[in-house]
Amino acid sequence: MSATIIDGKAFAARVREKVAQHVTRLKEEHGVTPGLAVVLVGEDPASQVYVRSKGKQTVEVGMKSVEHKLDADTSEADLLALVDQLNDDPEIHGILVQLPLPDHIDEDLVINSISPAKDVDGFHISNVGLLSTGQKSMVPCTPLGCLMMLRDHHGSLSGKDAVVIGRSNIVGKPMAQLLLGDSCTVTIAHSRTKDIEEVVRRADIVVAAVGRPEMVPGDWIKPGATVIDVGINRIERDGKNKLVGDVDFGSASEVAGAITPVPGGVGPMTIACLLANTLTACARANGLPEPE
Ligand code: NDP
Repeated sequence: MSATIIDGKAFAARVREKVAQHVTRLKEEHGVTPGLAVVLVGEDPASQVYVRSKGKQTVEVGMKSVEHKLDADTSEADLLALVDQLNDDPEIHGILVQLPLPDHIDEDLVINSISPAKDVDGFHISNVGLLSTGQKSMVPCTPLGCLMMLRDHHGSLSGKDAVVIGRSNIVGKPMAQLLLGDSCTVTIAHSRTKDIEEVVRRADIVVAAVGRPEMVPGDWIKPGATVIDVGINRIERDGKNKLVGDVDFGSASEVAGAITPVPGGVGPMTIACLLANTLTACARANGLPEPE
C-alpha cells in the first residue's frame, strides 16, 4: 500500500476537542450554552444509530442536547409545529431533522421551515443560495468535513482538478460548491456521465458520494491523487456484515497519494462538523465572534 491514510477519526476527535474548549469559554465568559435539537420521525434503524451518536457527542462537548422522537405516523402539520417551537426556543441554536422522513411528509417543506440561522445541516434553500454565491452560510456537515480533511492534507486546493461523483443536494452539489470556492476546477459526475473512468482519471482530487459498494476501482485513480470516500455501504462478505465505501480501498490505496478509509474517514467528521456548526450558530445568535 502506498497511499497516506487520512485518519478521519483522529481528525474528528481534534475538532470535537476544539469545539469543547469554545463551549467552555462561551459558558464561562458569556453564560451561554449551545443547544442542539435533533428530531427523528419513525424508527429507521440507521437513523436511530445516527441520532443516538449525535446526542452522545453533543453532550460530550458540553452542549445541551434535546431529542424529539416522533411516531412514524406523525402528521406533517405536527412536525412543522415542533420545528416552529424550536425556531422560537432561545436555548436551541441548532435544529436537525433527521432524513429520510416518512413518505407522507414533504421533506423540502420541513427543511425550509427551519430558521436558516438554526439550520445546522445547511440544507435550507437560503443556506444553499448563500453557499453558491460565496456568502456566509451554514455549510452541510459531510462536505464540510471532506473539505477540512482536504485542506489539512494539501494546504491550498487552488487550481486542482477535482471530480465529485454524485450530485445529491446533501453531499455532491455542496461538495462541488466548496471545492469551487477553494478554486478547484470542478467536474460533477453522476449516473449519466459518459466515460466516467476517464473523467475520474483526470482528477487530482476524487470525492465519491454515490452509495454503490466499491464502485471506483484503483485503475480509475490518477497516481498520487487524493481520494475522499463518502460512501457508507453495508455488504455481506465471507458470511460477515461489513461496511465499505464507494471506492475499492484495496486497489485504490495502491495508486492514490492519500485516501480516507471506510469506516474511520468521512463518517466521524460529519458529526464533528455538526457540533462545529451548532457552535457557530450559537456564537452568531449571541453576536459573538465566530470560533475559528
Ligand atoms: P444519493 O443516492 O442521494 O445520490 C447518489 C448520487 O450518485 C446520485 O447523484 C447518482 O446520480 C449518483 N450515482 C448513482 N449511481 C451512479 C453510477 N453508477 N455512476 C455515477 N454516479 C452514480 O446519495 P447521497 O449523496 O445521499 O449519499 C451518497 C453516499 O454517501 C451513500 O453511500 C451514503 O450512505 C453516504 N453518506 C455518507 C455520509 C457520511 O457521513 N459519511 C453522509 C451522507 C451520505 P443521479 O443523480 O444521476 O441519479
